[in-house]
Amino acid sequence: MRLTDYFLPVLKEVPKEAEIVSHRLMLRAGMVRQQAAGLYAWLPLGYKVLRKIQAIIEEEQARAGAVEMLMPTLQSADLWRESGRYDDYGKEMLRITDRHDRDLLFGPTNEEMITDIFRSFVHSYKQLPLNLYHIQWKFRDEIRPRFGTMRSREFLMKDAYSFDLDKDRAEEAYRRMFVAYLRTYYRMGLTAIPMQAETGPIGGDLSHEFIVLADTGESGVFCHRDLLDKPIPPRDTDYKGDLSPIVKDWTSLYAATEDMIDMERFEREVPEDKRIAARGIEVGQIFYFGTKYSKVMGASVMGPDGKEAFVHSGSYGIGLTRLVPAIIEACHDDDGIVWPVSVAPFEVALLNLKVSDAQCSSVCEDLYAGLQKAGLDVLYDDRQDGAGAKFASADLIGIPYQLVVGPRGAKAGEVEIKNRKSGERTTLPLDRAIQTLKDWIEPERRDRI
Ligand code: ATP
Ligand code: MG
Repeated sequence: MRLTDYFLPVLKEVPKEAEIVSHRLMLRAGMVRQQAAGLYAWLPLGYKVLRKIQAIIEEEQARAGAVEMLMPTLQSADLWRESGRYDDYGKEMLRITDRHDRDLLFGPTNEEMITDIFRSFVHSYKQLPLNLYHIQWKFRDEIRPRFGTMRSREFLMKDAYSFDLDKDRAEEAYRRMFVAYLRTYYRMGLTAIPMQAETGPIGGDLSHEFIVLADTGESGVFCHRDLLDKPIPPRDTDYKGDLSPIVKDWTSLYAATEDMIDMERFEREVPEDKRIAARGIEVGQIFYFGTKYSKVMGASVMGPDGKEAFVHSGSYGIGLTRLVPAIIEACHDDDGIVWPVSVAPFEVALLNLKVSDAQCSSVCEDLYAGLQKAGLDVLYDDRQDGAGAKFASADLIGIPYQLVVGPRGAKAGEVEIKNRKSGERTTLPLDRAIQTLKDWIEPERRDRI
């Protein structure tokens, strides 16, 4: 992408309304714009990150056996009357009336709708296990939307719903999501710790929140330090096999949010030098809630014994539009964002330091074509601006590698590559630049393991 053809409205001023670094950087880097309280437009650079996050989630959900679909944002109130949540959900639910005076709502979550879909099509245990998910906008009329897309009113969520014949099988489904979540966050460059959590309005018996430690996080959390360095299950993990050793390993070290904390247990189980009492960002939550919805909504299947049984379910959420600021909270420095390659909006920033210099521009044009041919995602800064402005905006928007070409280098057949994260600069002969970038980027792209 040529910057002169793109839309990247970077801000020079630090926006006053933004309290935390990720919000400031998302505004400064031209990733989002607030359109009303808690409602954001995703500008091209931000949207590109969101799509990369979505692709990782989709890959890991597929590996774990979840099947993607799409449900509408608006739902009928009657469905929610069946579960009793139409009245219970309270003011966070945005209620809408259509021209025929029918009550609708903007979905804050989808347990009712998916249970309705399930009960209309699935009648036998032979069609189980089943895990259906979608990635769709949700609306919750948060009393205090804040920190940009970290807590907005409209937000993008992946929500999966599992259906099984009994509790044991439902717990297997829960474990598949547990493991998929560990891998999903890890691939985005995050360390997300699963913590025992309260079930809240979703209801249920068993729940974990996945928390990224950050001083700006809204949740108070308590956990064992060794959870930060635990190895992540590899990409060839067999999701059809027994995942309980992995889940047991992760849950054997104490970790809980402030709502669930048992201080006595924390102090007893975690040696003093291993105790973390900190703040964190909830980037996902998984629930097992048994027959809570299937019973009231009549979702049952014929079992192998010929008896009808209500299905056991769980739901599994990931906040995509919250993940973007969560990654920035974890990956930035004084100059701006430092994207991990896996979610970076572009992999390479090609900086033409002097557009008016014919040789410099000709070298850049060749590199630009070559990088694209090599399958690298490149943003070509072909603006007339000076070198300083180009360095500053490349640093701000956080592209992992900068390929810098100035008139002197162009003449000598040399270019410089800067690693945004380490700050390391490498001078290379022109004809080795593309292959070198490929060699560095490709392994970082898909999987960190
Ligand atoms: P919170 O406690 O932060 O309000 P929640 O527990 O109500 O979130 P869930 O129902 O567990 O949210 O939703 C699944 C995921 O959706 C959350 O883990 C979070 O990542 C994301 N999410 C929830 N509410 C918001 C919001 N207002 N803005 C952005 N993301 C959100
Ligand atoms: Mg939650």
